Amino acid sequence: MTRIFSGIKPTGHLTLGNYLGAVRRWAEVDQHRADALFCVVDLHALTVEHDPARVRRLSRQAATLLLASGLDPELCTVYLQSHVDEHARLSYLLECVATDGEMRRMIQYKEKSARERERGGSVRLSLLTYPVLMAADILAYGTDEVPVGEDQTQHVELARDLAVRFNQRYGHTFTVPRAARPEVAARVMNLQDPTSKMGKSDDFGPGIVYLLDEPETVRKKVMRAVTDSGRDVAYDPEDRPGVANLLEILAACTDGEPEKLAGAYTSYGALKKDTAEAVVEVLRPLQERHRALCADPAYVDGVLRDGAGRARAMARPRVDAAYRAMGL
Ligand code: ADP
Repeated sequence: MTRIFSGIKPTGHLTLGNYLGAVRRWAEVDQHRADALFCVVDLHALTVEHDPARVRRLSRQAATLLLASGLDPELCTVYLQSHVDEHARLSYLLECVATDGEMRRMIQYKEKSARERERGGSVRLSLLTYPVLMAADILAYGTDEVPVGEDQTQHVELARDLAVRFNQRYGHTFTVPRAARPEVAARVMNLQDPTSKMGKSDDFGPGIVYLLDEPETVRKKVMRAVTDSGRDVAYDPEDRPGVANLLEILAACTDGEPEKLAGAYTSYGALKKDTAEAVVEVLRPLQERHRALCADPAYVDGVLRDGAGRARAMARPRVDAAYRAMGL
C-alpha cells in the first residue's frame, strides 16, 4: 500500500491556504487510498523566535483542527512530531549526508533568513537545517508520496536527493519519495497582497482567512480583498492575481473550475460575495467539529498518544537500520 506522509507547522493559526492546499485533500482523498501519516511538526516551530506556551497551544489546536477537518484516526495516523524521537535521530544522520551549499540554496531559507535579519534578529542554525529535518520526517516512514502545496516542492526534492545519496553510499535503506501537488488551490494567496501566499502569520492580517474565523470576519476579509482597477471578471493569474485568487478559492470551495467560473460573473462585488459565502460554508462544519473536540480533551489526548505509538513503531526499524548502515 502507498505510504503517505505530510505535516503542518504550528507556527500560527491554520489558514484557508493550509486547508484548501493540503488538509482537505488529506481528509477527503489521501487517508482513504493510502497508509497515511499526518504530523503536527512542532520541532519545526522552534526554528524561529517562539514562545514555548504558544507553540504548545498551537500544536494542540493544529492537531484538533486536523481531526475537525475529517482526519479519522481509524484510517490514518495523527500525532505530534516531538512525541516520536526518530525524527530528530534521523535528522542528525541526514545532516551528515547533506551539504551546507544545498541548504543555503533553499528558497524558503533565503526568504525567511532575510526577514529575520531585517527585523534585526539572528538566524537560528535550525532554520538552515530545517529541510534536513523535513527529509527525516519523510524518509523515516518509507514514504512514497508527500502531498504538499507548491511552496514545499523544493524541500521534497531535497528529501529525494538525500534518499538516493544515502542509498548509494550506505546501502539501500530509504524509499525515494515524490511530491504530490493538489490540482486546485496549490497556492492560495494573501487577500491583501495576492503576490504572496496566505501563510500563517503572527499578526492577524486582514488578508489571511483563519479556519477558526467567525463568518462575519470571513465575509469582511473577502469583501475587502484587493483586486485591480479592471471591471470584467477574467482568470489571469499573471496580470490579475487578486481576481484569479478569488476565483481559485471559489473553485476550490465549490468543486468548480476558475476559468469557467470567471464567465459567470460580471462584477467583482458578486464574485466576492459568492466567494465569502462559499468559504463560510466550507468552514462551518469544521468549526462545529472543532468545538465538539475541544469539549473532549481526553479523546484528543488518546488519539495523539496512539498515533505517536504507531508512528514510532513504523519509524524505528528503518532509523535503526540507518544507524547501522552508517557505522554506528
Ligand atoms: P505555512 O506556510 O502556513 O506555515 P506549513 O508549512 O505548515 O504552512 O504547510 C502545511 C501545508 O499547507 C503544506 O502542504 C503547504 O504546502 C500547505 N500550504 C501552506 N500555505 C498554503 C497556501 N497559501 N496555499 C496552498 N497550500 C498551502
